[in-house]
Amino acid sequence: MRLEPEPLIFEMSSPGRRAYTLPELDVPAAALPEGYTREEVNLPEVSELEFVRHYTHLSQKNYSIDTHFYPLGSCTMKYNPRVNEKAATIEGLTQVHPLQPQETVQGSLELMYNLQEALKEISGFAGVSLQPAAGAHGEFTGVLMMRAYHASRGDTKRTKMLIPDSAHGTNPATSAMSGFSVVQIPSDRRGNVDLEALRRECDDSVVGLMLTNPNTLGLFEEHVLEVCEAVHACGGLMYGDGANLNALLGVARPGDLGFDVMHFNLHKTFTTPHGGGGPGSGPVGAGPRLLPFLPGPVVVQEEGQYRLQAPEQSIGRLKAFYGNYGMFLRAYTYIRMMGPDGLRQVAEDAVLNANYLKALVTPYFSLAIDRSCMHEFVVHGDIPAAGVRALDVSKRLIDYGVHPPTNYFPLIVHDALMIEPTETESKEMLEQFAEIMRQIAEEAGRDPELLRSAPHVTPVFRLDEVRAARNPVLCYKG
Ligand SMILES: *Cc1c(COP(=O)(O)O)cnc(C)c1O
Repeated sequence: MRLEPEPLIFEMSSPGRRAYTLPELDVPAAALPEGYTREEVNLPEVSELEFVRHYTHLSQKNYSIDTHFYPLGSCTMKYNPRVNEKAATIEGLTQVHPLQPQETVQGSLELMYNLQEALKEISGFAGVSLQPAAGAHGEFTGVLMMRAYHASRGDTKRTKMLIPDSAHGTNPATSAMSGFSVVQIPSDRRGNVDLEALRRECDDSVVGLMLTNPNTLGLFEEHVLEVCEAVHACGGLMYGDGANLNALLGVARPGDLGFDVMHFNLHKTFTTPHGGGGPGSGPVGAGPRLLPFLPGPVVVQEEGQYRLQAPEQSIGRLKAFYGNYGMFLRAYTYIRMMGPDGLRQVAEDAVLNANYLKALVTPYFSLAIDRSCMHEFVVHGDIPAAGVRALDVSKRLIDYGVHPPTNYFPLIVHDALMIEPTETESKEMLEQFAEIMRQIAEEAGRDPELLRSAPHVTPVFRLDEVRAARNPVLCYKG
């Protein structure tokens, strides 16, 4: 017999049960201040065991990289090594206070300095600031730096940010937040920036161009040098969306390709936890022209002493204190554990895994653009003959214990499924996923309703996603 479903904690409540034992009072008892306790909230009364089961059951509903395959394109859901967590709990580093005098936290500053240096080396930029708290925050930082650069030269007529139509939504959002208008540049048939269309937009009103390379189709931008040249020639600057650096580590450096500023996502490429697992971190790197505008403080070193300092024409502070320090510890640990050769191996394996999986999956789902891919690839996830859409395939994957790929992005591909296996998955896992995709394609022919009504094994079934977002039900109703 199976006991199910497990009762909700509110239904287990029985008056007088307690999930805590308090130590005996060793101070005089005092009444609680008026107005701080309320009877009417009606909290459940349960035993300690019931309480533990409630939260354990909730935790088992979590889906995570620690439990399952997670091929969520553009998000780089790779394994977060446990050694990072060990480093992040070293007491000398966790027990310091951000307002401590700098002489007393030299070790912490040295670690930030070393991480800045490592990211410079990896990316080919002249300087790095660790302040921003996420990728989108790093983009905002970089665009503000571009704005400050033009303003510092009295060049105030620049109002136009060029953004390819394959870009992540944060690119246009960031530009708009910085007060610029967005001009969309189409992609050509090979998924590159359409150079003709770009050249038509290049004039003295251009702030710059935000380019993702590899782009969100998982393809290396074959025109990257020409794009940089065209934008620079009209006085614009090149922003690199470096959220997905996994295919470039140790192989190519954005700073060398001609970018002026770029953000990194420590919570993607550099294995710090992602999503609910922890805060993000989105450092920015800058080339010579934008170096003086980096947000401060950054860590500098003089005669073996480490010091916090704002760059000359800094756009200022973007984050309280020094950034999400715990993520610096984890990313630095990862970089040092891998070493230069290891990082290059990461890129090679990420690209190999993606191309292997692409070969296994494309007999059933066709490629958006037929080229060899970098760290990820995009297929059409629909099966028109069966009346099945990419969303149905994704929901059915949940029944097989796989997190769906990124759906309906990039926007230029109809029914896009963006698949990123990462380098940390085994050959067997990739083959298993491809086999599941084959089975789902077969099911679609046999019983399309099975897909259209999926998922079938989850605590809640198919949601009306629009209603769920507009009218979320956030509280338990007995
Ligand atoms: C993830 C991602 C971002 C945004 O990063 P966040 O840390 O989620 O703000 C920007 N661009 C691309 C291409 C991304 O994949």
